[in-house]
Amino acid sequence: MNLQGKTAVVTGGSRGIGRAISLRLAAMGALVYINYVSRPDAAEETKALIEAAGGVARTIAFDVADGIQIQDAFKRIADEAGRIDILVNNAGITRDGLLARMKESDWDQVLATNLKGAFLCTKAVSKTMMKQRWGRVVNISSVIGFAGNAGQVNYAAAKAGLIGMTKAMARELASRNITVNSVAPGYIQTDMTDALPDEARDQLLRDIPLACLGTPEDVAGAVAFLVGEDGRYLTGQTLHVNGGMYM
Ligand code: NDP
Repeated sequence: MNLQGKTAVVTGGSRGIGRAISLRLAAMGALVYINYVSRPDAAEETKALIEAAGGVARTIAFDVADGIQIQDAFKRIADEAGRIDILVNNAGITRDGLLARMKESDWDQVLATNLKGAFLCTKAVSKTMMKQRWGRVVNISSVIGFAGNAGQVNYAAAKAGLIGMTKAMARELASRNITVNSVAPGYIQTDMTDALPDEARDQLLRDIPLACLGTPEDVAGAVAFLVGEDGRYLTGQTLHVNGGMYM
C-alpha cells in the first residue's frame, strides 16, 4: 500500500489496460480518478470493482484531445483531491488503413488522442507536481512505435512520438523529483485486439517468443513498478511488455 495518500489520474481508465492500471494503483492505496470519454457505464463498473476491493475511486469524463476540457478537469481534480501525484497517459485509439488510402482525418484523430492528449494532460498536471516536488508520469506507448506496422502509420507515428516526448519531459522535470517513463506493450488481450481477424492473431502468436498475448495486468504491473518506490531512480525509460516480440 505504498501509494497511500497519493492521487492518480488514469486517462482511458475505464476499460482494457486502463482498467487494470486503475485497479492496481487503487490496490496500492492511491485515490484513482478514472477518465473516460464515451462510456460512463464502463467507468462506473471499474469504480465499483475498485470499491469492492476496498479501494477509493472517482470517475471523470473528458476528451484527452480537448485542451479546454482537460484544463477544467485537472483543476477540478486538484481542488477536490488537494494534489495530483500520478498521471498515466493511457487513452488511445486506432484508425487503421494503408497509407495510400488513409484519410487525413484518421491521421489527425489518432495523433490528437494518442500524442497530443498526453502532452496536454501532462502540461495540465505539471505545475501541481512541480509545486509538490513529487510526481510520476507514465506514457503508454506501443511495440508498434518501435517496430512499425503496415496499416498503422498514424498509430506508429503517435506511439513513437510519445517516446521522444517522454525523454524531453523527463529531462525538464527531473529536478523537481518528477519522473516520466513509458511502457510499450506488445499485443494485449483487450477490446482493441479482439477486433483482429483469426488469421492475423495466429500469425502474431508465431511472432511472440512467449507464444501468448499479454494481459492488461501484465502492463499494470510495469506501471506499478514505475510509480512505486522501486521505480524511483528510473526516468526517461521505456519498459517493453511484449512477450519478447520486439527486443
Ligand atoms: P481500449 O480500446 O480497450 O480502451 C481505450 C480507452 O481509452 C477507453 O477507456 C476509452 O474510453 C479511452 N479513450 C479513447 N479515446 C479517448 C479520448 N479521446 N479521451 C479520453 N479517453 C479516451 O484500449 P486498450 O486498453 O487496448 O489500450 C490502452 C492503451 O494501450 C492505448 O494507448 C493503446 O494504444 C495502448 N496499447 C494497447 C495494446 C493492445 O494490445 N491492446 C498494445 C500496445 C499499446 P471510452 O470507453 O469512454 O471511449
